[in-house]
Amino acid sequence: MDHASQGSPSDSAAVRRRNLGLVLGHIADHGPCARSEVATATGLAHGSVTTLVGDLQERGLVREDDALRGGGRGRPGRPLRLVPERALAVAVQISAEELRVVVADLSGVIVWRNATSHRCAPGTPERMADAVAAAVRRAAGAITASPLPSDGAVGAAESRVDGPATEIDSVVSALPPTSPHAVDRESRSRAVDSGHKHAGMTRVVRHGREPNIGNSPEGAGLRMDRASGASLPPADCSIGAIADPVLVRVVIAMAGPVRDDPAQTVVVAPDFGWLHPVRLGELVADRLSGIPCPVDVINDGNAAALAEFHARPRRRRGLVLIEAGTGIGGGVVLDGRIHVGSQGIAGEPGHMPVAVDGPLCVCGAHGCLVCYAGPEAVLTAAGLGEVLRGAGLAAASDRLVAALGEDDERARAAVDLAARALGVAVLSITALLDVDEIVLGGTLAQWFPWLAPTIEGQLAGRRSLAPAMELNIVAARLGEDAILLGAIESARRTVLSDPASVPVLPDRSMI
Ligand SMILES: [Zn+2]
Repeated sequence: MDHASQGSPSDSAAVRRRNLGLVLGHIADHGPCARSEVATATGLAHGSVTTLVGDLQERGLVREDDALRGGGRGRPGRPLRLVPERALAVAVQISAEELRVVVADLSGVIVWRNATSHRCAPGTPERMADAVAAAVRRAAGAITASPLPSDGAVGAAESRVDGPATEIDSVVSALPPTSPHAVDRESRSRAVDSGHKHAGMTRVVRHGREPNIGNSPEGAGLRMDRASGASLPPADCSIGAIADPVLVRVVIAMAGPVRDDPAQTVVVAPDFGWLHPVRLGELVADRLSGIPCPVDVINDGNAAALAEFHARPRRRRGLVLIEAGTGIGGGVVLDGRIHVGSQGIAGEPGHMPVAVDGPLCVCGAHGCLVCYAGPEAVLTAAGLGEVLRGAGLAAASDRLVAALGEDDERARAAVDLAARALGVAVLSITALLDVDEIVLGGTLAQWFPWLAPTIEGQLAGRRSLAPAMELNIVAARLGEDAILLGAIESARRTVLSDPASVPVLPDRSMI
């Protein structure tokens, strides 16, 4: 059945945008594939698919492979493939000291990365917005090349570094193959690394001028020209398929609940001394004149949860991340999407009460999970409070692992209490959300071998509702890159679901 005939949403433009997203999403996840496969998978009529694919080709997002499949001839036999480098996203992670920045393409491959100190005093959100906007401009500039010479002599467009050489030279690195889209990423990341050493996008830097602005009616972005296609593997570099990469999304990830409103408001961020709502998305967007691309802000735990969800070899319906660092944070992913809740405060497992008469928590409630399983609580109970305060979390956590390895009684008791508290939390989460995976991150991942048996033991006797329940409790896989990977995944999903946010290629729009 053709989705356009379903009548809801009734607006035909909205239906077309949605159908474009259905087609591009299928090609991105399953391509290369034939039009007939797309039609079958999406439920769209074959004629509609052909029209929609034409639109996607005009936007530079899809191309036809030259290779014929199955001995077929003619257009139906030419598989469709995503052109990931057509649309780029910038992700910025705000941490206590620095801004970590990556630029990634539509398949999630990192093409540029950087880290700079933000030097922002607590309680200065405008200064932070200044620093983030400057970081985004630097990222956009670093991937902006001068246009190709008209004679196509790409070698003449020698890049130069506009800024400290080390900043550019040290930024490009591929993420581990455990990251989302690992299958495609591994081979393409090698190519990106290789390109960095030789030529191409990863060495392309701005030439001391403002970026070109895209020609889309939506104002979708910054046009960038590649000096060479050498940084990407041949399969993605057929002549004429790649042109005018556009910056289509900026995603900022930070601690603190974020409301999904037009201003992308951070409700409160005590880690940064932001004690009142900050319209961070709006503040940054206002500082990006000349780069008119949408700015999203997401909670860092939510971003990490999304990355962990997409890092699983078998896609699942729902996942909750419980991550211990300075406290306990996390995130909820349902049906592949971050669940932020009505106030932006969903996905805070640290403040789930697990005991009605437990100790008073900093949040004002009693018996929160963080009071039992937070690093400070566990390390103090294990007799490592002094180490935590003197040498820091990583050193104290290592000491705990060593003590557990030696079967130290106090260490085992502290971790056992944490595991029982986590077991209660996991049961509550399961009762409410029926997710099929709980991921433990941060120090909980490090302590996972000692936590897991007790948590599993608590689940064992409580399966009356679903005797065959196979809730997986696993350690996080992605480490500190999870937040940036999740931010990129968020941008990627947004663009794939609305390809019309990517402008038509300039040479197509003039026809
Ligand atoms: Zn609390």
